[in-house]
Amino acid sequence: MNCKVGINGFGTIGKRIADAVSLQNDMEIVGVSKTSPNYESKLALDRGYPLYCAIPDRISEFRDKGMDVEGDLNDLIDESDIIVDCTPGGVGAKNSELYKKAGVKAIYQGGEDHQVADFSFNSLVNYEEAYGRDQTRVVSCNTTALCRTLYPIKKQYGINKVRATMIRRGGDPKQDNRGPINAIKPKMKVPSHHGPDVMTVIPDIEIDTTAVKVPTTIMHFHSINIELKNKNTKPEDIIKTLEETPRVTLVTEEHGIESTAQIIELARDANRPRNDVWEIPVWKESIVIKNNELYYFQAVHQESDVVPENIDAIRAMTKLEKNPTKSIQKTDKNLQLNPMI
Ligand code: NAD
Repeated sequence: MNCKVGINGFGTIGKRIADAVSLQNDMEIVGVSKTSPNYESKLALDRGYPLYCAIPDRISEFRDKGMDVEGDLNDLIDESDIIVDCTPGGVGAKNSELYKKAGVKAIYQGGEDHQVADFSFNSLVNYEEAYGRDQTRVVSCNTTALCRTLYPIKKQYGINKVRATMIRRGGDPKQDNRGPINAIKPKMKVPSHHGPDVMTVIPDIEIDTTAVKVPTTIMHFHSINIELKNKNTKPEDIIKTLEETPRVTLVTEEHGIESTAQIIELARDANRPRNDVWEIPVWKESIVIKNNELYYFQAVHQESDVVPENIDAIRAMTKLEKNPTKSIQKTDKNLQLNPMI
């Protein structure tokens, strides 16, 4: 029997996870919950997802707009084996008591603190620890991206220290209230919270990060510098390692891919849904080693890179698959995560 998945919060992340769940053959969407009867609620109904109202006394607002609502959040919880909480940062923590009381498994997103589940997840790093768990946090888009490339490099060559700068998008494409519009805005908290967040997944890594926001909506960008333990490592070794790592893809200037703009264009040309880039593109030319220090650039499609991780987390927590590699391969095959170039 398929695992029954409920999505609480059907926004940027929630709608992508719902679609990704629908593409798997061992899980299904039993409902999604929304706070207001907007265009995303209509999308849920158009996709055939049963719609629930997250706030009980707003059910009539949905019905007044002709939207069929099955019930409230408690009804969705009753229908679900697992809830994927995709509400805005901080709301998931408030919902956690409700999930625990109802005895339903729950996945939270990166807008929550590690403490919400006392376990922070990345498929490649700690899938086995998620097996059978009741509560898990899938880390943020930036932390997921950092874990995807740092973990295999650490495993094969050893890392003394990571220094990385997050060049962050001002807002998601749908967010007309975010910025900056014409400025570069540094995060004055130095180091930024991203390093400690990576350590919730890979505890024995030394990492400091800084962050700036720039006027773009399509992707984040990371400039990474790593002091390697293995002094004989060559750029070709790193290229080979990253080529063999799932959900990491190498891109090159030789193909005219010189910025995040062309990466999104590749995703459009590949007919990816919503031009999603689930994998982390790393620029081949940027992989340079100087005096034992590795440099590289990577891009992050913030709206979608955490989606495959959520699917694997569902599979691990509900004991659908014990083997991480098998889950990763199954998720990626069903998403049609094929090379874009
Ligand atoms: P979003 O605002 O696009 O979507 C949130 C959804 O939750 C909306 O549909 C909203 O109506 C609904 N909602 C609001 N309050 C609610 C409540 N009390 N109960 C139920 N639903 C409620 O946000 P998002 O970008 O999808 O972010 C969701 C989570 O994913 C956050 O933790 C965020 O930090 C994390 N995340 C976001 C991104 C990103 O770039 N957008 C990337 C990775 C992780």
